[in-house]
Amino acid sequence: MDSRDVKSVVIVGAGTMGHSIAQVFAQAGIDVGLVDINKGALERALRLIKSNLKTLADFGRISSVEIPKILERIHPSTDLAVAAQETDFALEAVVEVPDVKREVFRQLDELCSKDTILASNTSTLDVFSIADIRQPSRLVVSHWFAPPYIIPLVEVVPGPKTSSEVITFTANLMERLGKRPVIMKRFVPSFIVNRIQQAIIITVMEMLENGWATPEDIDLAVKTSLGVRLPIVGAVQTLDFTGLDLIYDIQNSVGMAVGLIKERVEQGHLGVKTSKGIYDYGGRSEEEILQKRDELYLKMLNYLEDINAFDPV
Ligand code: NAD
Repeated sequence: MDSRDVKSVVIVGAGTMGHSIAQVFAQAGIDVGLVDINKGALERALRLIKSNLKTLADFGRISSVEIPKILERIHPSTDLAVAAQETDFALEAVVEVPDVKREVFRQLDELCSKDTILASNTSTLDVFSIADIRQPSRLVVSHWFAPPYIIPLVEVVPGPKTSSEVITFTANLMERLGKRPVIMKRFVPSFIVNRIQQAIIITVMEMLENGWATPEDIDLAVKTSLGVRLPIVGAVQTLDFTGLDLIYDIQNSVGMAVGLIKERVEQGHLGVKTSKGIYDYGGRSEEEILQKRDELYLKMLNYLEDINAFDPV
């Protein structure tokens, strides 16, 4: 199926994620069955969607005249059997409990057509082992980030049996919604961002537990360094700017040598200073690359200072 032909989707679970994912589909002109076992959750979902849409309109992201039409496309229901009829894409965003997800996939498998793509918004679970469905080739993770109507990323994660068509379809569908899908090569628990976030959480907890720095100072340190750099160079390209030879020495000194870095260093690919590291800078000079980086850092710094981003929210 072509993602441009998708007319109707179903979102199961109308909590923190489900309500706002439903909103994003509706903003893209797609009809959404929003299903929850709890009627109160559906009422809250509609209240929150209205408030989210107002925020987007206040910031000029949507026009306020569109809001009634967007709301009309969202069909709240406690009846999955009705909502699942004639749906092209079904995404579960129920609680992160394996037994609950297994039962939701059992119902979706029974109620949806055999062509419906079944997706999970799980943060970390191996739904490919949990879900027992007839066609595992149509099961995929599409992992969104809160709040979904603002954060661009959706991680698209295939299981061992997910077909390449389903992966492409899902990524294209996310693009149609205005999202920035990143397709992982294979399933690993927590995917890309939550894996990185977990490493941060462990380190932060260690510092707090040991009283090495105050919460305020840790956040100020992060915001005034990584906060300026990461939006520009990401987590990997930053290594090229540091210099892979230095990274290699640091890794050796803490007993964590990584084959990939060793290999590049041995080949003389040290990062920006040799115009090739983990990334290839196509022969551009160090000055040229650094000038572009600095221009972007300065734009970022100006903006962050302008909005007082270094103060706590
Ligand atoms: P939530 O608790 O806010 O919402 C879950 C909703 O699912 C509730 O409204 C509940 O009534 C409903 N539900 C439970 N069982 C159901 C069933 N059988 N059928 C229909 N509805 C059912 O949870 P959340 O924070 O929105 O998380 C949902 C999923 O998204 C989880 O897998 C979570 O790991 C993932 N996720 C969460 C975040 C986040 O920031 N909260 C971010 C990314 C992914």
